[in-house]
Amino acid sequence: MSEDVLLEVRGLQTGYGDLKVVRDVSLTVRRGEITVLLGRNGAGKTTTLRAITGLNRTTGGDVVYRGAALTDAPPHRRVAEGMSYVQEGKRVFHELTIEQNLLLGGYSTKKSKRALADPVQEIYELFPILGEKRALPAASMSGGQQQMLAIGQALMAKPQLLILDEPSQGLAPVIVKEVMERVHALRDTGIGILLVEQAVQDSVAIADQVTVIEMGRTVLSGLASTITVDDLQAAYFGSAA
Ligand code: ATP
Repeated sequence: MSEDVLLEVRGLQTGYGDLKVVRDVSLTVRRGEITVLLGRNGAGKTTTLRAITGLNRTTGGDVVYRGAALTDAPPHRRVAEGMSYVQEGKRVFHELTIEQNLLLGGYSTKKSKRALADPVQEIYELFPILGEKRALPAASMSGGQQQMLAIGQALMAKPQLLILDEPSQGLAPVIVKEVMERVHALRDTGIGILLVEQAVQDSVAIADQVTVIEMGRTVLSGLASTITVDDLQAAYFGSAA
């Protein structure tokens, strides 16, 4: 496995009880890169993320992270190893201020409030709007800003791998573009990002790698720069499209 590879998922299988949802998913995330995971509603994207983060039990295949198999490791060990997961529709604490929300995100690092001051400052540099509104309750922010806060909260744990499930959900198109630009800027910090999206165009535009799954199987995988609209259409709708 190359030094740059942060996460390698091979032939993943998982589901819910007897229901097999993910049957054969493979994908790779490299350091300093974004891998976007696409697929129609119900294709198994969220379930794939749940297996990668340990929330779902893996029934086949491997999850190799930083060179070691974590396939059967509990979620807290994966968090300790630097995986941060922003779940779909993640809500922030509305009644707390933006800064209090960020400090809570740093809780798992067991650092004092003073020691978290620098990481909080780094988040404000990445997301200036959060710095401007730091003393206001999170409820005062727009949906897009709350999504940035949820990402900021996850970054407070200093992850090496950031996993985002549909950060564009429910946002107006212009705000989706802004969130994608922020996510793009994050990759320059050197972390790897696994991004699940329905906003195909906007997410492929910021991606390094693209993986498309259909009915729980990887049907397309490759460099974002070489994947065409025709490739995506064929992967989504079958080659007859
Ligand atoms: P979406 O884009 O709609 O979020 P997705 O690709 O993320 O879709 P999943 O949420 O992984 O898809 O769901 C895949 C399949 O697993 C669906 O058929 C769904 O009904 C089923 N499923 C999801 N969660 C559960 C659960 N907790 N129990 C049983 N089945 C589930």
